[in-house]
Amino acid sequence: MSKIYKEIGIGFIPVLLVFLAFQGVNVIPILFVSVLGGSLLYMMKTRGGIGTAAGGGDRKSKNRTPSFLTFDEIGGQDRAKKELMEALDFLIKHEEIKKLGIRPLKGLLLTGPPGTGKTLMAKASAHYTNSVYMAASGSEFVEMYVGVGASRVRDLFKDARARAIKEGKDNAIIFIDEIDVIGGKREGGQQREYDQTLNQLLTEMDGIHTNEAPRILIIAATNRKEMLDSALLRPGRFDRHIEVDLPDKKGRLAILHIHAKNKPLAEGVTLEQTADQTFGFSGAQLEGVLNEAAIYAMREDKPALEQTHLASAIDKVMMGERTDKETANDEKERVAYHELGHAIIAELVRPGSVSQVTVSPRGKALGYVRHNPPQDHYLYTKDYIEDQIMIALGGAAAEEMIYGGRSTGSRNDFEQSLSMVRNMMDAGLTSLGIIDREMVTKEQLMKENAVILDALMLRTKKMLDEQRSVFEHSFAILMKEEVLSGDTFRTLFDASVSQSA
Ligand code: ATP
Repeated sequence: MSKIYKEIGIGFIPVLLVFLAFQGVNVIPILFVSVLGGSLLYMMKTRGGIGTAAGGGDRKSKNRTPSFLTFDEIGGQDRAKKELMEALDFLIKHEEIKKLGIRPLKGLLLTGPPGTGKTLMAKASAHYTNSVYMAASGSEFVEMYVGVGASRVRDLFKDARARAIKEGKDNAIIFIDEIDVIGGKREGGQQREYDQTLNQLLTEMDGIHTNEAPRILIIAATNRKEMLDSALLRPGRFDRHIEVDLPDKKGRLAILHIHAKNKPLAEGVTLEQTADQTFGFSGAQLEGVLNEAAIYAMREDKPALEQTHLASAIDKVMMGERTDKETANDEKERVAYHELGHAIIAELVRPGSVSQVTVSPRGKALGYVRHNPPQDHYLYTKDYIEDQIMIALGGAAAEEMIYGGRSTGSRNDFEQSLSMVRNMMDAGLTSLGIIDREMVTKEQLMKENAVILDALMLRTKKMLDEQRSVFEHSFAILMKEEVLSGDTFRTLFDASVSQSA
């Protein structure tokens, strides 16, 4: 109905203006005032005003209380969830804690790598405590104009209180992602705008009266806790820190199950295998794996996700999309020898660990070997790291053995090797003993680095030289098929070893 009136109005106004002009009325001031009024109305509609903290419609949908998200829908993270729920109970049982004289909680800090579920935790907290949920990101407070960030912080708290009262809730949870953007260490001088924003946040936190409803709890998230100003971390502010880490195997499996709920899995597909092969993946990456696997199934017109789709999806998330890079045949041959070098060493030092050898380009890589970690590792021995370095050096060693020289294809392998040597030095696993970088000269470090890498390169070359027949057996098949599964590779490996024995 209102649309019809609007259209009639739009048609009527110009006719009226023309009529008035014919009557000799000066319509220019009317036109000017209408244009000005229209523009103002338009600006107010599109910007949504500062009252919505930092944005327009997007922000509104972000802030809607996520009534659907519970802690059960967050996979793994059992310890973090337990700690968080315990802290949230302070908000729920505020009467009890008052009796014991416990200081109520104002701020909770979630720390951990990107994509591990910190935002999910904040949303689930709002559901758990039946609170209003407001979200903002540190970067939204950063503006060119001094004072704008601070006024946005003020508005955010004001809005949270107003919404809680309007919706009849006792609590409001304000989630601030990337808190390090505004909460970084204050060094004075240049960062006036950042300082004002942070000061305003601290003032608002100090002004939270935890005894009267609506009670406000701030949950902040960061990947860089060490960057935060100590004023933010002191008791009474963000004094509860909860680590949200990358999931272990059990956690990965739980996350995969959550995201597989709405996807048909073919018979025989085990998510266990996917959980095994995704060591180091975050929750967001695991969600990406299932999504990509479903896309592969759709491309192939399959009604359900198969294990091969999941395997390709892991590669896609880890390495990037398969590229159409046309490689010259001699280049592809070199890549095949290089990857076989990695795979053979991996199979020798850790039998059964190769999951796939590929010579089709993906992302920036021309070929790659995917490994199965036997189980999640958080502690590494010297032998384990040396084996890893030899696997990394295997590509360059194979090129030297076959072509008598290396290519630029080993750059990434060397970077990995150097970082592992650095790790060994810092952990006191080298002949330098237990050191601090300041105690030794650059020359000493360089010398030790060379000694370790030269010895490991020599061992790698010797091991590969003893397996020339594996190269001969696998090379032609790898060139033809472009992908060798771990099982096929092992069959070829075992056949060559038993033949040469
Ligand atoms: P960032 O630090 O980059 O903001 P974050 O830690 O806040 O990341 P979320 O935004 O919570 O990560 O997670 C991103 C997506 O990853 C979620 O929408 C969800 O699909 C998936 N995800 C991450 N962790 C989990 C988990 N533990 N269980 C289920 N899904 C998860």
